[in-house]
Amino acid sequence: MAVRSFQARLLYLLIAVLVLLEAGTLVSVYLAGQRTLRRTVADELRVGALVLNRILDTRAQQLADSARVMALDFAFRDAVASGDMPTITSALLNHSKRVGTDTVFLIGLDGVVMADTLHGRLTGKRFPFPALLKMAEEGGEASATVSFQERPYQFAIVPVLGPRPIAWVGAGFEIDDRVLQDVERLTSLDVSLRGASAANDEAYASLPQHLPTGDGSRVDVLLRRSLEEARKPFVTLQLQIVALSSLILLAAVVAAVIFARSVSRPLHVLAEGAGRIGRGDYVSPIVVEQQDEIGQLAAAFNQMQSAIAAREDQITHQSTHDALTGLPNRTLFFDRVTQSIATSKRTGASVGMIMMDVDRFKEINDTLGHHFGDQLLIEIGRRLEQTLRTSDTVARLGGDEFAIKFTTPSVERAMEIAQRVGTAFDAPFVLGDVAIDVDASLGIALYPAHAEDADTLMKRADIAMYDAKKSLSSVAVYEAGRDEHSLRRLSLMMELRQAIGRDELELHFQPKIDVRTEHVVHAEALVRWKHALHGIMRPDEFIPLAEQSGNIGLITKWVLRKAIQQCAAWNRTGLDICIAVNLSALDLFDSELPTFISGLLSEAGLPPTRLMLEITESAVMQDTAYALKILSDLKSRGIGLAIDDFGTGYSSLGHLKRLPVDELKIDKSFVLNLSESSTDDLMIVRSTIELGHNMGLVVIAEGVETLEAWRILKRLGCDLAQGYFMSPPLPAAQFQEWFGTSKWGSGRPARQPPGV
Ligand code: C2E
Ligand code: CA
Ligand code: CA
Repeated sequence: MAVRSFQARLLYLLIAVLVLLEAGTLVSVYLAGQRTLRRTVADELRVGALVLNRILDTRAQQLADSARVMALDFAFRDAVASGDMPTITSALLNHSKRVGTDTVFLIGLDGVVMADTLHGRLTGKRFPFPALLKMAEEGGEASATVSFQERPYQFAIVPVLGPRPIAWVGAGFEIDDRVLQDVERLTSLDVSLRGASAANDEAYASLPQHLPTGDGSRVDVLLRRSLEEARKPFVTLQLQIVALSSLILLAAVVAAVIFARSVSRPLHVLAEGAGRIGRGDYVSPIVVEQQDEIGQLAAAFNQMQSAIAAREDQITHQSTHDALTGLPNRTLFFDRVTQSIATSKRTGASVGMIMMDVDRFKEINDTLGHHFGDQLLIEIGRRLEQTLRTSDTVARLGGDEFAIKFTTPSVERAMEIAQRVGTAFDAPFVLGDVAIDVDASLGIALYPAHAEDADTLMKRADIAMYDAKKSLSSVAVYEAGRDEHSLRRLSLMMELRQAIGRDELELHFQPKIDVRTEHVVHAEALVRWKHALHGIMRPDEFIPLAEQSGNIGLITKWVLRKAIQQCAAWNRTGLDICIAVNLSALDLFDSELPTFISGLLSEAGLPPTRLMLEITESAVMQDTAYALKILSDLKSRGIGLAIDDFGTGYSSLGHLKRLPVDELKIDKSFVLNLSESSTDDLMIVRSTIELGHNMGLVVIAEGVETLEAWRILKRLGCDLAQGYFMSPPLPAAQFQEWFGTSKWGSGRPARQPPGV
């Protein structure tokens, strides 16, 4: 559009300039023509007047000559002298005929006409122009224009000498049409004796000529020039100029059109090319043959095009790939899943998705450094790609989270794939001089079995992954109805970190009783979360979340500080007991922990022997080498160690022997229903007590709810007991009160627990 209007504007401009130029030329030609016309006509009229006067002069001369010839004629003179009238008359007639005068007179000296050629009409009468006679008497001859019988005549009078004048001969020419036609013939004028009507004619330029008369009469000749006639050559000239101008204008318009096209066509090509680039076509270049500025512009456009293409490729890659591993990122992964689901809708195949989270990645990162963590992620990405087909997609969604998309005929097949993905973690990861065993939790979800769209599918695979983590199995398939639960977990996870700062955590204490003395020797610190919305939350609900979100270290440290301070305070007031604190499996990866605990102890002035750390069996089994190092460190500082939940983790005896522990805590699942009739529990509890004692460990049973259980434990020689039968976990103040009033506590001096 814009291009066409540019072309049109260029055209209009050129045409307007040309038209103006030509109009100017025509106007000046016209004005010059008018001026020349007026001058030419005036000149012609002046020349006409001269010609008229010259002809009249010549005729007057002729007239005088012929009159003179006659007056000199000898025979004629004789006849005049003798008064021979017939001879005179015939001589006058002959002469008049010969010379061509219109009239001839013989006039007596007295002024009376003696003979004439007008059939004697004036003979005997007085000559009608006495003034003329008088001029002749004075000057010898006379000639003048006069009116005779209402018509203008040139008249000449000469004397007939004998030798003195004896009479006058007068001759006249009529100024008639012939004379005027002579002038007309010599000029291009219209000549007439003055007529009133002709003088004011618009179509003519006129010049009245006043002829001098000898009798006081008025004789005017009107010279006229037809303006139309005079203008004819100018009109022709103007027409020729107009024709020529039109031709030039036409040629100019054609040239202008061609020029405008030649300018606008490459511009059009450029505009089209720019449009293509705008629409994202970076392939077809702009082709302009010209080498001029427009050609340069086209070249610049083409450069810009390829630069944009390169940059866009780069940006697209950056925006769809993870910078660290080079794997597709969440955006691209989501797109691919959406695509696969769309395809499956036609083909009927299932789309499988695995969400994967590296176990304990945060601890690894914190312990071994971010660089190590980065290298580990890159290596994990590489191994994952190796386990999969090229048609599958591996993506890093962020942090230590990976996702895999594949097509699968069934859940069983998806499980197989997940198993194969799991093999990527079989070999230890060797990075620099560190070799580390890494595990991952995998969650599986399938389209259309578990979700209808990509978003839901990803969420559900995520939920499955958390299930896998929680159940400590490496793979879990999504189970319907988990969403809400998982949402609550997610939001709790986020709130947990703030809980410490907001002072929402609280410790409860549960006594451990020496079975023999029936007196309290330990208190186990158990954490509670007074959540603004959910009320008092038990650790089973939020400790796993803290472990997953990497906040467990914060909680452990908070509990340790509170518990140690509380125990020191009690010791000072005579409540002379030891304090037990639970450690999470992940705490065993924190190499700073032993130093931190020592610091707390000396700060509170509590001897390390007063602190007992409980570690679950499964935690010690997970990463034995590292855990062993930390445990030995703690042990060497004089801190007591207990294996919690014993009996649930299938640990080998050989392994157990190598652990530097003091106490074995039989899991409450074996104790809760302990009775004389529960033979299985009875057997397990008995053999555990024996085993513990054989290894030189103090054995404690938790979950003692009944007097019967208490009696059985006492009979079996269990060292310590803990449970609702004696007391539930209580807040510090209530624990103190319980201690003062209960038979398990009441005033009796506390004894050092055996084995510590
Ligand atoms: P645990 O270490 O085995 O603690 C004993 C759990 O058994 C406590 O539950 C206690 O209330 C409960 N219990 C005690 N006697 C009885 C009884 O007679 N009958 C029954 N049914 N239960 C009894 P709690 O306080 O809910 O703690 C649950 C678990 O949370 C603990 O198991 C421990 O593993 C973990 N935990 C608690 N506090 C902490 C903490 O500060 N740090 C860490 N890492 N874990 C903690
Ligand atoms: Ca415990
Ligand atoms: Ca336990």
